[in-house]
Amino acid sequence: MNLLEHESKAILKSAGISTPKGTLLTSTEDTPTQSFPIVLKSQVPTGGRGKAGGVIVVDSEATLRPAIKKLFELTIKDFRPSSLLAEEKLSIARELYLSLLVDRKTASLKLIAHTNGGVEVEENKEFASWLVEYVRPDFDMLGQELANYYDLQEHAFELQDLIQNLHTCLKKNDALLIEINPLIITEDNQLIAGDCKITLDDAAAFRHPEWQFETKPTETNFVTIDPQGNVATIANGAGLAMATVDAAYDAGLIPANFLDIGGGANTESLLKAFHKIIKYPNVQAIIINVFAGITQADEVARAIIAANEQIPQLPPLFIRLAGTNYEAARLLLDTANIPLKSTLKECLSAAKEAIDA
Ligand code: GDP
Ligand code: MN
Repeated sequence: MNLLEHESKAILKSAGISTPKGTLLTSTEDTPTQSFPIVLKSQVPTGGRGKAGGVIVVDSEATLRPAIKKLFELTIKDFRPSSLLAEEKLSIARELYLSLLVDRKTASLKLIAHTNGGVEVEENKEFASWLVEYVRPDFDMLGQELANYYDLQEHAFELQDLIQNLHTCLKKNDALLIEINPLIITEDNQLIAGDCKITLDDAAAFRHPEWQFETKPTETNFVTIDPQGNVATIANGAGLAMATVDAAYDAGLIPANFLDIGGGANTESLLKAFHKIIKYPNVQAIIINVFAGITQADEVARAIIAANEQIPQLPPLFIRLAGTNYEAARLLLDTANIPLKSTLKECLSAAKEAIDA
């Protein structure tokens, strides 16, 4: 899940990273405690607020109320804010880009930087990037190289600290991404996180009772792996779900998602999963691999039949079912003309054939 800017900044701050002094306004009557000029920022879970008019600099008392009112009423990419962040206005000398993220391809962390941060970052090409070990990376080297890249040699130690704090922060909070854009160098040469976006790993929610954010983690164990993937996967039990994803890769397919439907899977929760799956633009097959235990195979079969009837654009299903109530499930699926495969391997090769055809 994506956190709001003020939630992300609170996490940065507790990780020892400098952020502007801010107050949160939750109604049009609230008053910022900063002295003018103040920057007012709409707290919506999307970027591009600057370009959409969601960031307003207020110079005096006279223009404060109208600006607050305007921001509360402004919809940005379908989102209306329920709060605004008021911050002291910084005097900006440079706007840089810096992020640390989990890189699935290399199975490590990646630090990404650009000398040109701020609202135009999407136009940038050729970001600089460094692999960052999950355990004991060489912060000394990273700090030095980042300082050279930004041409900020006098800030090398500070950048080293920043990378180290980001690294600790990402691991401790089970974040998938921490993006600081812009990373600001002020006129008086301070390094401050001007804006921040943090994406937390929903699958880790169970070990973070402190996650009390405006957005809630998704309640199923549905994780997007590659939004451009060509197959979706559904399995029960985390181990079987992981094995299914791995086997799909091995068969030359690109899994879009990981889904452990768990023990309590029912028609409703499966339908929800199918509705998420059809949003992936390239998925051409769905692999269902269920070893029924607490989840009963006939319940899964009923969900599959319901999905097939209710979602006309559902890609072809390749299903392997085993375990509790298998016979009942087979009969139900037979009657509905939905074929079963006897092994996962058969599902995968049939899916691959269908996609390549
Ligand atoms: P985003 O457009 O949603 O990424 O919102 P940001 O928080 O990154 O703000 C967009 C832009 O507003 C920044 O790139 C800055 O140029 C500008 N901005 C934000 N805060 C300040 C500030 O304190 N001082 C100044 N001068 N500009 C700011
Ligand atoms: Mn930004």
